[in-house]
Amino acid sequence: MLGVSGALGGWECPVRLASVSAPTPTPTATTRWRCRQCGNLTRFDVTRTSRTRDYVHVDLAGEPVVEEREVLAEDVESVRCRWCDGVGTVELVPRPGPDEGPGETADTGEHGAGAP
Ligand SMILES: [Zn+2]
Repeated sequence: MLGVSGALGGWECPVRLASVSAPTPTPTATTRWRCRQCGNLTRFDVTRTSRTRDYVHVDLAGEPVVEEREVLAEDVESVRCRWCDGVGTVELVPRPGPDEGPGETADTGEHGAGAP
């Protein structure tokens, strides 16, 4: 007698955030992202909607190449922490001042998309 229960017809309960959650604000010149769950400051998955205008250069063979991209509008939808996979755990914190730099930051100094 097979008393298997729950093999079929199990609850499939997709928890859908109906995108009502407040979007994570974009860091400015004086703020940065920080995951308040694990303290991550450097690695994030950013989902963003951007409206861009591309300068497409099509060569004689018909191969298009985007030579220039101008961002007309950008909207950060969500930021997920790469370390703990936390969504909604990323907040804005002030950047350390130039004179009070932390001594042991293993930051490689990589910059994101710089302002034009
Ligand atoms: Zn985290």
